[in-house]
Order: sequence, then C-alpha cells, then structure tokens
Amino acid sequence: MQNIAPKLTHEQYEKNFAEIKPALSPAAAIAEANRCLYCYDSPCTKACPTHIDIPAFIKKIATRNMKGSAKTILESNWVALTCAKACPVAVLCEGACVFNAKSEPPIEIGLLQRYAMDEYFSSGMPALFTKAPAAGKSVGIIGSGPAGLACAAELALHGVEAIIYEAKDIPGGLDTWGIAPYKVRKEDSLKEVGLIESLGVTIKTGIKIGTNLQVDELLSKHDALFLGIGLGESHELAIEGENTPGVIGALQFIADVKREDWQNVVVGKRVAVIGAGNTAIDAATEARRLGAEQVLIVYRRSQHEMPAYGFEFDLAKTDGVQFYFLSAPVKVLGTESVTGLKCIKMELGEPDKQGRRSPKPVPGSEFILELDMVIKSIGQQTNAAFLQQLQDVVIESGKVVVDDVTYQTGNPKIFAGGDCINGGKEVVNAAYDGKRAALGIIQFLLG
Ligand code: SF4
Repeated sequence: MQNIAPKLTHEQYEKNFAEIKPALSPAAAIAEANRCLYCYDSPCTKACPTHIDIPAFIKKIATRNMKGSAKTILESNWVALTCAKACPVAVLCEGACVFNAKSEPPIEIGLLQRYAMDEYFSSGMPALFTKAPAAGKSVGIIGSGPAGLACAAELALHGVEAIIYEAKDIPGGLDTWGIAPYKVRKEDSLKEVGLIESLGVTIKTGIKIGTNLQVDELLSKHDALFLGIGLGESHELAIEGENTPGVIGALQFIADVKREDWQNVVVGKRVAVIGAGNTAIDAATEARRLGAEQVLIVYRRSQHEMPAYGFEFDLAKTDGVQFYFLSAPVKVLGTESVTGLKCIKMELGEPDKQGRRSPKPVPGSEFILELDMVIKSIGQQTNAAFLQQLQDVVIESGKVVVDDVTYQTGNPKIFAGGDCINGGKEVVNAAYDGKRAALGIIQFLLG
C-alpha cells in the first residue's frame, strides 16, 4: 500500500494552483503599453519564434484598439493566450527588449499579450478574419496540440477543409494536458480550441489512429495529412524495479493534475523526480502543491548542465524542492509499492558530441533515498509504433524528417510539425510549425 500524502482542502488546492503571474489591470496594461518605444526593426519580434508584430499589438493596446491588437497577435500565432502564459519570455521576446540594455525592466510583453487575448475572449471572440471560398480540398490532422490547431486554423482560412483527429477525450494536446495549472489552466487552452472550431475546423476526439481509424482510411479520405502527434511515452529508466506500483511518467502525472480533480490525484508523501528539465520541474512543484511532504529532484549531471530554465529552478526551490545533483538512480526499492530508490554518485568526465560532460558512476558511492513515489522525467520516446505505419515517412534521431520550408515528409501527401519534428521544444515553436506547414500544404494542394 503506497504511503500517500494527506489530502488538502479544496481551498488549499485552489490556492496552491492559483496563477503565479496574475493578469494586468486595464490601467496597468495601458501604462505598460505606453512605456514601449515601438522600436523600428524590433528585436522582440525577431526573438519571438512566431514573429508576432509586438510593437504593433502593444501600440493598439495603448490606443484601446483591443480588437486590432488581438488580430495582430492571431495573424502570427493561433494559440497566443497559452503562449502568453507559458512562453519562457525571459529568454525570448522580453529577453530581447531594448530596455534590458538600459538596465531597466523589459516591457511585460507576455502579460500584455495575455491582456489582449483575455479581452478578445471575454468580448465574445468577434470575427477578425475573412475565410477564402471553399477550395474543394480536405486535410486530416492527427493531434489537436498547438501544431495541429495552428495548421487547421490556417487551412480553414484558406478555404481548405480541416478535420482534426484527437485520441484523448478533450482536445488541446500539451496546451490542455501538459502545462502546470498555475501557468495555464485547461479552460485557457479550450478557449483557443473554441476559436479554431469557430473557423469551421472539425475536431473528432477519442479517435486513435491505427486503432479505431486506420492510416489508409485517412489517406484515401483526405488530400493530405498533417502529423501534429508530439512525442510518445516517457523514456524508461531501464533500472530494476521500474514497474513497481508508485513509479509513473511525468507526463501522465501532469495530465492527471490537469484534470483539476485534485483530491483524486495520487501523490506519495516522499517523491523523487528523475531528471531536471522543465517538465521535471513542473512535476516536482505540482507534487509539492498537491501536498507531498518531501520532493527531491535526482539528476545525474550538475546544476550547470541542468536543462531547466533558471526561473523554473528558482520556482522549484521556492516550493521547497530539494536537488540531488550528480546522482543517478540504480534500483527502485519495494515490492507492493515504492519504498525507496537506490542511487549512485556520479562525476563528470569528458564532453560528449554536444559538448556536455558525460557523467560516470563513482564506484562504491551508492546511497538510498526513502520514498513513496518516483516520477520519471528523462524525456519522451518517439511515437515509433505509429510512425512505422506511414510509408516513406523518414525518422532520424527520433525525429520525423521534413523539408525546412514546406514541412513535407518523404511521403508527399504527409506533412509534420511540432515536437515530432523538433524532439520537444516550446508551444510557440509548435504553433509556428503548424502555420508554416499549412502554407506548405496549401502550396502542394492548390499551387
Ligand atoms: Fe517595445 Fe521592447 Fe519591443 Fe522595443 S524591444 S518594441 S521597447 S517591447
């Protein structure tokens, strides 16, 4: 029987998962918008992977043209509310703002974008775009995450029928299921899903391609396919005891939390998260906020090599997460449930091909952590079983190979974008890929 953390009250859960970055008031948004210098050749726009015309949308906030501001944003990014809340702005747009060079705080671009999108959704999503006449073509999109949604929206605007097939019961992919609720709530992502549906896109949920609908059927039904399938399951730790009850993948744990049925999410009293990427940090902080008394992050390299952003690391430390650097798991202990994790100390050797120093075990340095739960967060596998069903779609280093401009795979009828082609980047990168791939598909179908 797993040693479970005591349940909190509903109010405590809501407090723990409340937004960590509150919205700007209208007065604060306008004041911040007026601080912008509306730079020519703006570096913030260049730093945004979707190249939103940032000075233009900020200027429209300053002049209270909220519809125009939302339009400027959506012209570049169809999941702009999620991105406003989840993007690592400190290393993207805000990191490039000219105010940094003056040692002044950068413009709060993320919060201003959120303000514009909140206003747009709360005003009932007025129509902003004119759709092209029906082109008589149809595209099947597999996956309703940011890449799939962006691709579908762009196709719909160009008069191409877009039908999204989603395996889960609720659409939105990682935007709905994979981002910590104190950053993005499920309802935020579903507002964006609603916007894309309002353009005439159909989303069919509960459809698992290869199980209750076959690839061949899709290829004969549609003129082209877009793969926005993301990545697959969490990588295995490949250690003894990995299948012990109480060991779970980080994405599964985060998705369980995103159901917002906090009382029924199982979390141990003492939890170890294996890995130190941004997903690992999300899982660790969520475990703490669900009531886990002790949460440890076990990472085989040092803090210096940790893939998580600095601000994510700071958030985890603020939440009381402890870090075991230069430590690797060797064996999960326990029979009926997790009781501990045997680890070994590591030291860094020579740099590998990517320039990262390779960790190697220190003989005789094993130690035991007493635990009730282990969350695996050492990356995700390629969805190989599915991809093998697609003729002429080439996989290299775990990524679907596409043309840089058109996003076409080795099979001319199949296009792809998002995590399945980049190995796992930000939502904003997937949104950009989806839009660009739609343009590639339009060129392929309509010339
Ligand atoms: Fe405004 Fe900063 Fe962008 Fe210049 S770099 S346009 S000041 S947000």
